[in-house]
Amino acid sequence: MSTAIDVRSVVKHYGTMTALHQVSMAIRDNEFFTLLGPSGCGKTTLLRCIAGFESVSGGDILLYGRDIATLEPNYRPVNTVFQQYALFPHMSVLDNVAFGLKMKGVGLAERRARAGKMLEMVHLSAFADRMPSQLSGGQQQRVALARALAPEPKVLLLDEPLSALDLKLRQAMRVELKTLQEQTGITFIFVTHDQEEALTMSDRIAVMSQGRVQQIGTAREIYEAPNNRFVADFIGETNLLEVEVVTASGGMAEVVLPGGHRLRCAAADTTPGRHHLSIRPERLSIAAEGPLTGTVERVVYLGTDLQLLTRLPDGAPFTLRLQNSARTQVPEPGSTVSLQLEDGAARLLVD
Ligand code: ATP
Repeated sequence: MSTAIDVRSVVKHYGTMTALHQVSMAIRDNEFFTLLGPSGCGKTTLLRCIAGFESVSGGDILLYGRDIATLEPNYRPVNTVFQQYALFPHMSVLDNVAFGLKMKGVGLAERRARAGKMLEMVHLSAFADRMPSQLSGGQQQRVALARALAPEPKVLLLDEPLSALDLKLRQAMRVELKTLQEQTGITFIFVTHDQEEALTMSDRIAVMSQGRVQQIGTAREIYEAPNNRFVADFIGETNLLEVEVVTASGGMAEVVLPGGHRLRCAAADTTPGRHHLSIRPERLSIAAEGPLTGTVERVVYLGTDLQLLTRLPDGAPFTLRLQNSARTQVPEPGSTVSLQLEDGAARLLVD
């Protein structure tokens, strides 16, 4: 699979502040790739460097093998969709979508045909003659997408394009975006701080924190096998317990759990000493006997799930998620329960 964008040790300074520290990633052709991280982690800065709105302070960005440092933004085969999608208010929907094609010198008939095809793709053919003010927020965002896709860029950069939409619409748009990416074969680089959004759409995700890449992988890889505490905590929910490592080698470790039980688990870190163990709440069950014991403090009803907030004997909070079915036995607050871990529930992390 060929590389669309090769980010090599990119550094970005704003005055004395470093927004990107030696960031490297190879984004593949036809990939839906997501930059995920909390506010301020540098994801927009990286996107702007790829688009050419910012210059890098160090390192290189190659687009299909070509160094783009000296290539002006409008000569890069890249287009961007922003959170504020700013359609031209005095132009019809069709003319908005055709605008980029006009700029490229495409003739009227072909422009209209291509823009019409794009509107079909985003299910807005019936709205071609409307003005943007006559559309809902979600429809306007789909026009902005069609406008960005119409000139057929090789790469589409999307900076939190769904964050202005309400939850239902956002969920529907996630599926639509993924379908659009597959239909067009364009490489999408999507920026978000919303982990659920990232997990649903992406072929691969780069998790970022404080200007550094923490981990790159598929949704499953970063959820099931987080490298470090930041990733385990940021992606989904987890219990982090400090444990003593007894032995560790070859990606496995034996650790001592609070309460003294020993557990063998997968390990991202195999150095001796005290480290953090991540245990996913949905990979636990209440059993007659188990390696952990918790006192139930609260049962939270979440519809499809029940969340059990417990405390371990050493006082550490510990959460379980039980599927809400007719058979689920719900313990009373104040009771003490034994907890069993499913295979693969626990992973020893790098701090
Ligand atoms: P958000 O989700 O809030 O947009 P982000 O992860 O996209 O956050 P960036 O916008 O890339 O983060 O910002 C990274 C860091 O660089 C932040 O600390 C920010 O304050 C800083 N920064 C961004 N742009 C500039 C600028 N033009 N001048 C100075 N500092 C900047």
